[in-house]
Amino acid sequence: MKVCRTVAEIRAASTSHSRGSVGLVPTMGSLHEGHLSLLRAAREECDTVVMSLFVNPAQFAEDGDLERYPRDEARDLELARATGVDLVFAPSADEMYPPGFQTWVEVAELGSILEGEHRPGHFRGVATVVLKLFTIVRPDRAYFGQKDAQQVEVLRRMIRDLALEVELRVLPTVRDADGLALSSRNAFLTPEERERALALPRALSTRDPVAARAALAESNGLVVDYVEVADFDPPVLAGAVRVGSTRLVDNVPLEGDDE
Ligand code: AMP
Repeated sequence: MKVCRTVAEIRAASTSHSRGSVGLVPTMGSLHEGHLSLLRAAREECDTVVMSLFVNPAQFAEDGDLERYPRDEARDLELARATGVDLVFAPSADEMYPPGFQTWVEVAELGSILEGEHRPGHFRGVATVVLKLFTIVRPDRAYFGQKDAQQVEVLRRMIRDLALEVELRVLPTVRDADGLALSSRNAFLTPEERERALALPRALSTRDPVAARAALAESNGLVVDYVEVADFDPPVLAGAVRVGSTRLVDNVPLEGDDE
């Protein structure tokens, strides 16, 4: 497994690996089983697997969330190696956003509802970095988690709108045995907060927004940002809550047998 820090390096490495299909798995690191499920799918379906490891400053608000985001590169690289990743692209922020950077991708409507309403600019940061990763790595397939259903919807729209030649592959949400969706941010939860956080997957599992809101209103110490049915593909019941200083998002598909 080769670790590349610059655009030039990953381009050169991708060219020398350019036999067959290329799968890209974008991550912000702190890998867990959710990420690993994407890497394993890419490993099965593609000749070359590229994982990006980049905590993208452009998708964080300026409130300390970026600085606080968990990072453990040595562990991530070990897990990537063990999962059969060929190339890791782990650039610095300056490499992705060189001085003077001013070109942004805005998925106007989808990027401004739900998560976009509570995190202004978030999806602009996501769409921009993912388009840039696509142009650098030029994958045939890119792998994302249904856990971030709105992110998938935003990226699907961007791919259509800009006629990008990449196949979007979406894998089901991986959960802990108690139902909590795996997330790098779960590491912030105290045992007591984690117990309270379980109210979110329990509420969403009703698959009914009114029942879910009522269930969350009764659970102590959760601040509900939203619980809404979103007309995505597939439609989902999506929710976001704050438990202490940790913000959690989750969703349950309302059609199909996807989890
Ligand atoms: P992140 O590192 O949080 O940006 O996530 C990288 C990718 O992993 C995104 O496509 C996420 O949707 C996906 N992902 C995160 N958590 C999960 C999960 N619990 N199950 C499946 N995919 C996930």
